[in-house]
Amino acid sequence: MNILVCVKQVPDTTEIKIDPVTNTLIRAGVPSIVNTFDTYALEVAARLKDASGGETTVLSMGPPQAEKALRECLSVGADKAYLLSDRAFGGSDTLATSYIISRAIKAIEEMDGKFDVIFCGKQAIDGDTAQVGPEIAEHLGYPQVTYSIEVLKKDSELAVKRETEEGFEVLAVKTPCVITVTKTSFDPRYASIKSRVFASRANIPTLSASDISLDISRAGLNGSPTKVKKTFTPPAKQNGVIIREVTKEATAKKLLEALFAPATA
Ligand SMILES: Cc1cc2nc3c(=O)[nH]c(=O)nc-3n(C[C@H](O)[C@H](O)[C@H](O)COP(=O)(O)OP(=O)(O)OC[C@H]3O[C@@H](n4cnc5c(N)ncnc54)[C@H](O)[C@@H]3O)c2cc1C
Repeated sequence: MNILVCVKQVPDTTEIKIDPVTNTLIRAGVPSIVNTFDTYALEVAARLKDASGGETTVLSMGPPQAEKALRECLSVGADKAYLLSDRAFGGSDTLATSYIISRAIKAIEEMDGKFDVIFCGKQAIDGDTAQVGPEIAEHLGYPQVTYSIEVLKKDSELAVKRETEEGFEVLAVKTPCVITVTKTSFDPRYASIKSRVFASRANIPTLSASDISLDISRAGLNGSPTKVKKTFTPPAKQNGVIIREVTKEATAKKLLEALFAPATA
């Protein structure tokens, strides 16, 4: 199988702080990591490749330092990597991002052959929109399966186990398709010394706007229909009150009293 995994380099959100004056993220000094859901997507892709053979390519759109994220992916299961980077892509919203990535997929396919399946994480832990995967599917006209946790090849189709609100379901999907992956029951694999050496020596080609055939008016800030009007930090929630009386009846009575107590100015 020819597999592509889209990975995003994101700030480690456990380290994020908000500037109290501007309400924007303080990015300086914040370490970058591979988006957590993308590490699960890569592991699902690596397991599919282990079972069915083929090759796994990773693709990231971002500034030059996103190459580090791609090298990490090369050390844990990916065979090849491409970085998609151009100043013209800066300021892209999710629609522009997914359009640029879909054009890059077409350009890579001309060099390396058609992808059978394109994996994305369920969402990025910084943007959190979960829009890019489904939008890539729409741009390419491919079927999509979201919230996936396991993928197996079954004859000419893929059997995809996905999470639902009630539990799980297994869907059969024809290739080529887009699959977004949520947290799996298994952990992503660790890098070995051999795979680290492979990753550090690998050549990672950079694709710019001129390398992919795209309508530049649909990229970057000007090509993005989403406009951010205001950013703000929601007020901190006050601590809740725990009502626990000797009996359930007394607890319910106390709760009703609290709910219907006249508001104090
Ligand atoms: C008006 C506007 C302006 C913006 N300007 C900028 C900007 O200047 N610079 C900036 O960095 N961001 C900018 N963003 C944020 C940027 O658009 C999003 O981070 C990006 O589109 C991905 O969306 P998301 O993080 O919600 O990803 P999701 O949709 O939650 O991601 C789902 C999956 O899609 C894939 N994916 C997402 N992004 C990428 C990527 N870049 N490369 C490869 N795979 C990916 C991953 O597999 C990921 O798990 C802007 C957003 C808006 C709305």
